[in-house]
Amino acid sequence: MATRKKAAPEPVPCSDCGGSGEVPTTVLVGRRRRPVGKQTGFCLTCLGTGTAIDA
Ligand SMILES: [Zn+2]
Repeated sequence: MATRKKAAPEPVPCSDCGGSGEVPTTVLVGRRRRPVGKQTGFCLTCLGTGTAIDA
């Protein structure tokens, strides 16, 4: 009996972060939401994995 290889799904880079799993987020403070800087945020699209979730 021949064993069949399962075709592994190819990982698709996340379109939001480009595969890094992180996205730049502007930090806003105060009521006027003054931007004080940028920090690296967790990509919520791929949950930090860098690959698009195929579900
Ligand atoms: Zn992402």
